[in-house]
Amino acid sequence: MEFRCPNCHAPIYSRKLKICGVCEKPLPKELLMNDAEIAFWKKQMDKEEKEAEDFGRQINDIGSHDGHGGVGGMAGF
Ligand SMILES: [Zn+2]
Repeated sequence: MEFRCPNCHAPIYSRKLKICGVCEKPLPKELLMNDAEIAFWKKQMDKEEKEAEDFGRQINDIGSHDGHGGVGGMAGF
């Protein structure tokens, strides 16, 4: 499904925008994400952010243990 600005007929690339990127006229509500869609989208973003954070922490833990042990072992040897 393609969305176009009713004013200048430019294609709308992001339904998250409230105004047209070309003519900067406000876009009609029916072209934009509704509240449920926005809520769903925000939830997805939060979830992904949290997962990325957890993943980053795991990497850091592994990295610090490995790095410390490795360097310590080498230095002691
Ligand atoms: Zn426009």
